[in-house]
Amino acid sequence: MTPDNPPRHRNTAHAGMIACRHCDLLQRTVPLTRHTTAVCARCGSRLYRGERTSLDAMLALALASAVLIIVSNLFPIADLSAQGIQSSTTLFGTALALYDQGRALVAAMVLVTTILVPAAEIAILLYLLLPLRAGIVPPGLRAAFRALMAVHPWSMMEVFMLGIAVTLVKLADLATVVPGIAMWSYVALIGTFTGITASFSTQAFWSWVDLARADRRHARLAEAA
Ligand SMILES: [Zn+2]
Repeated sequence: MTPDNPPRHRNTAHAGMIACRHCDLLQRTVPLTRHTTAVCARCGSRLYRGERTSLDAMLALALASAVLIIVSNLFPIADLSAQGIQSSTTLFGTALALYDQGRALVAAMVLVTTILVPAAEIAILLYLLLPLRAGIVPPGLRAAFRALMAVHPWSMMEVFMLGIAVTLVKLADLATVVPGIAMWSYVALIGTFTGITASFSTQAFWSWVDLARADRRHARLAEAA
C-alpha cells in the first residue's frame, strides 16, 4: 500500500484537479467506472483510467482480515507435546515468552509488527471504507488516510510467520508439533493483506471519496426538491 504512481493532481493544492501531461491544462477529475478513460478536453491525450479495484472488493478483504486477525489472536498458533508434557502458545503468548526470556526488544517488535500494526491498519481501513460504502465521508478522513500510509511499512507478518515455521521445523525433532487454528488463520490473513496491498491505490481511494461526496450532494438536492 504505497502511494506509488501518484497522479499529478495529488501534488497540486486541489485534490479534485489534474493537469494534462501534454498541454498542462488544469481540469477537474470525475470518478470513473472500470474500463473507462478520462481524456484532456483540449488536446485529447489520456489523463487517467477508471480503477480496477472496487470499493466492495477492498471492503470485503478488510472485513475478512478483521475476522482472521481476531481468530489468529484467540486460538493457539501451535500445540507442542514432548515426553507427556503438552503446551500451546498464542501469538501474544509468543511475545510474552520472548519477554520472559529477557528479550524485551524482540518481544516488543513481535507485538508491534505482527499484532498491533496489522490490527491498526485493519481498523483504519474499516473506519474509512465502511462509511464511504454508505456514501458518507468519515470525519478526520485525511488524518486517517495519512495514519494508514504511516503504519503500513511496519506490518511484518510474513517475517514473523517465517520465523515460526523455521522454529517449528527445528522443534519437530524434539517434540510433536501440531499447527493450531491461529497458524492457518494467520496464513490466510497474510493472503488477504497481500490482496489489500496489491490492489489498494491512492487514486482509487480518492475516487471513492469523490463518489461519496457526490452522493451527499445528490441526496441534499433531492431533499431540497
Ligand atoms: Zn491536454
